[in-house]
Amino acid sequence: MATEPRSTIVVDGLALANELRAELASEIAGLVAARRRPPCLAVVLVGDDPASASYIKGKRRACERVGMGSVEHKLAATVSEAAVLERIAALNRDAGIDGILVQLPLPKGMRPNQVAAAIDPSKDVDGLHPLNAGRLLLGEPCLAPCTPLAILKLLERFEIPLAGAHAVVIGRSAIVGKPISILLLQAHATVTMCHSRTRGLAEHCRRADVIVAAAGVQRLVRGDWVKPGAAVIDIGVSEVDGELVGDVDTEGVMGVASLVTPHRRGVGPLTITLLLSNTLAAYRARCGA
Ligand code: NAD
Repeated sequence: MATEPRSTIVVDGLALANELRAELASEIAGLVAARRRPPCLAVVLVGDDPASASYIKGKRRACERVGMGSVEHKLAATVSEAAVLERIAALNRDAGIDGILVQLPLPKGMRPNQVAAAIDPSKDVDGLHPLNAGRLLLGEPCLAPCTPLAILKLLERFEIPLAGAHAVVIGRSAIVGKPISILLLQAHATVTMCHSRTRGLAEHCRRADVIVAAAGVQRLVRGDWVKPGAAVIDIGVSEVDGELVGDVDTEGVMGVASLVTPHRRGVGPLTITLLLSNTLAAYRARCGA
């Protein structure tokens, strides 16, 4: 029997991000009105990758718009890992800095795990320090990575039921795949973690109520991989002929999924918003505000 096509919500991530940023701006205005300093985020950029430079510009603008301070520390691609660690140590000591984010990817030869481990866990707004990763696993309060938090916020706002739902996560990175799997598990979903060696990926997806695609493989998830009514979250970004495309064939899932995030103005703006929100949380925890 043919299934009736359904209407698919295409999430406007920017609108949702703006809503959340307005809430953050009013919280920060309240702190400033109480004669406290605003929170401040430090972003460390090593090298001159144009995409990274554009990402940090977006982060700086987002900080300004909510009344949060931000400082950029640009280091040449040729600096040693020790020099990066020294800069992080100085930011750890700086009482005026609440959050430290080291923009990834780092130049070849630098070890991202060593760099993340050098950040004071109370300022680790990207949630990559082993202490925060461990606390996340244990279900203890922590700073968790921003994209997984953004995904959860989005699912919450659109009232996608997670308790007892089957969620399929494609990708097992430390910054997206693993932490979102843990957060979904904590929200009582049954989680299947898929990756580049998974067999029968399409079959796993066809059983999912929620799909989170974070593989960085263009249009991997097709319409016929999606169960009618499933929510499909597209995290991947790849460049094809100078154009950015996601991990989901958005057109293909229209009329099948209940909700889909587009690869532009989808989860991206929300990720930056959760970075702001993590910085404010770090500030409050450190200053007792
Ligand atoms: P990553 O390269 O570290 O991890 C990719 C993961 O996908 C790996 O675990 C790999 O096993 C899996 N994978 C690769 N090919 C696969 C395949 N054919 N089938 C199944 N699994 C496969 O990447 P990452 O840092 O986790 O980022 C994933 C994607 O999300 C990238 O495209 C990145 O640009 C994007 N991203 C977007 C945001 C956002 O806010 N929208 C944030 C972070 C990352």
